[in-house]
Amino acid sequence: MKVSVKAPAKINLALDVLGKRPDGYHEVHMVMTTIDLADRIELMDLGEDRITLVTDYRFVPDDNRNFAYQAARLLKEKFHITRGVQITIDKCIPVAAGLAGGSSDAAATLRGLNKLWNLQLSTQELAELGSEIGSDVAFCVYGGTAIASGRGEKVEPISSPPPCWVVLAKPNIGVSTAEVYGKVQMETIQHANVREMVQAIEKQDYEGICEHLSNSLEAITMELHPEVEQIKEQMRRFGADGVLMSGSGPTVFALTKYESRMQRIYNGLRGFCDQVYAVRLLSESPLE
Ligand code: ATP
Repeated sequence: MKVSVKAPAKINLALDVLGKRPDGYHEVHMVMTTIDLADRIELMDLGEDRITLVTDYRFVPDDNRNFAYQAARLLKEKFHITRGVQITIDKCIPVAAGLAGGSSDAAATLRGLNKLWNLQLSTQELAELGSEIGSDVAFCVYGGTAIASGRGEKVEPISSPPPCWVVLAKPNIGVSTAEVYGKVQMETIQHANVREMVQAIEKQDYEGICEHLSNSLEAITMELHPEVEQIKEQMRRFGADGVLMSGSGPTVFALTKYESRMQRIYNGLRGFCDQVYAVRLLSESPLE
């Protein structure tokens, strides 16, 4: 038996950091949405009781450090599963990019194994399990568009923004999420307009969404990697309606309604960055 699952990337339309918690995590308030840039996960029954992982991408671990492996191990332990599984990850989402690639692989593995092993867990139950693996996994279990709070694990689905193009550009550097959060200074941080973003989405106000794109971590990553600001400038120059860094970066995304402008931004950035993608927002929620 074999199950194939899509693991889409996310972007942050708004990301605010509210404070540091006693457990060392930061309290966040964010709006996230899935995009049509996805890894593909294949889950296949193994004849023996173990987890194996195969990936085509050499910068991703193929052992118990992989979040998809951890998802399978968690389900096996919690539900005393004695069947083995081979996880194959066809990696398309750039790694250490602020697009939650690893978290989405874990979430897709939870959803897929729920089917393969007939566990009949609800989306909420899967999301709760996912948050034991990483802060963004719960959101990735739901997909669509949501407000996330706590350390990211409290997820409240909301309606999706109106359809548009998303052009993503990742400079040739990986960013450590821990390093960026480590540099947060609550006294000087610029707070993001999460409430305005949610209102703009509810009103399906595309211009309002572009206007309220904001990310409290952007200035920190930009100081470490000035390429982020340069990419934002290029995207604006090529006609983007709104531009923002996603998560802790370094990927920057541009929004536009028009295919011709998407092409212009895409072609313009290709001369500047190795990894450039043009995709649509994924509006349907929750994910199958
Ligand atoms: P986030 O936006 O949630 O902070 P990210 O996009 O910045 O995540 P990931 O692509 O998830 O970062 O990768 C972060 C690290 O996680 C990588 O350096 C990698 O070693 C590890 N990792 C574990 N499992 C995976 C996976 N399935 N895919 C990618 N990276 C993984």
